[in-house]
Amino acid sequence: MRSAEPVGHGALLAGMWNAARAQRLAHAFGFFGPPGVGKFLAAERLVLGLVCASGPGVPCLVCGACKRALAGTHPDVLVLDPVTQEVEEIYMSWITPRDEPDKEKRPPGGVALEEFLALRPLEGGWRAVLVREADRMGTEAQNALLKTLEEPGSDVLLVLESSRPERLLSTVRSRLVPARFAPLDRASVVSILRREGVDPGDLEELARWSRGAPGRALALASQSAGVIWNAVGRVLAGDLDPLEAAAALAEIEGEFPGRTPSAKARARARAVLDLAIEAVGDILRARAGASAERVAHPALAALSAAVPEARLEAGLERALEARQDVDANLDPALAVERVLLALAPPPAASTARRTVRTS
Ligand SMILES: [Zn+2]
Repeated sequence: MRSAEPVGHGALLAGMWNAARAQRLAHAFGFFGPPGVGKFLAAERLVLGLVCASGPGVPCLVCGACKRALAGTHPDVLVLDPVTQEVEEIYMSWITPRDEPDKEKRPPGGVALEEFLALRPLEGGWRAVLVREADRMGTEAQNALLKTLEEPGSDVLLVLESSRPERLLSTVRSRLVPARFAPLDRASVVSILRREGVDPGDLEELARWSRGAPGRALALASQSAGVIWNAVGRVLAGDLDPLEAAAALAEIEGEFPGRTPSAKARARARAVLDLAIEAVGDILRARAGASAERVAHPALAALSAAVPEARLEAGLERALEARQDVDANLDPALAVERVLLALAPPPAASTARRTVRTS
């Protein structure tokens, strides 16, 4: 569990700790909002403040309970985190104990949620379960969780965090008290990036790209997003061969989660496609007259000024299809290649342009 203070969500947390002190805190929450705005960090903070010896309230971070929670060894805290575990799915065995022959699919701490909740609280306070990116539960896992959500127990707190709550079953969603998280203002994003040690020279650009989500800015920095966007822009402008670009992007360094090379390749392709989708969407928005602060990539818009709108739209459509192909386990490298080919000028046109440039 992380100790960093989530910026911009202090009032929400204070309200929840107050409710806990008055013994009227609800038992199941949905922390919903865009990715990277600090939803899960806030959930971690909430739990720290509940288990802290001086809580409920702002956690001291130094008492035994805080230290155990921070170290991941607090017996009354269970964190189901597919991001840290680098798995794409929250497996059924994480929720309900079952014989799971596949070691990869067993629950991270060896204990399923239902087993955990069957125990008495060992430190006498709350038993808390945090589920990160809860939308990564399949239907079976969600249905299993539903039983717990129907009768959580008087000392149980469940927080389901998700940027895509529409992927949760409506029966699950309806049992959660929703807490909505909004994007942060530019100054808050910059202060967080500075705290996280981002190079001062990159601060402004990352803050602009973040769309109010500092976690997203940090992910972009760790995934060489600037290099990827630059390649997309040059392919659009006919300045870089799409196949050459695809080959380079298939090798690009960065934090692409996955336990196996093929899982990493899939994660990398997803990142490239998401960034291409975002860039093209941004260019189309800029052309439609969006205000300057809503355009994250003015440089790309300028670079692709001569690109016909039909090509941008076709490329965007191809990219959205390719994104689904990657999720459906089709070859990630081919998916990226197809999109870059659709974004590049048709072969005849690019030859013509080259001739003009060299003459
Ligand atoms: Zn404490």
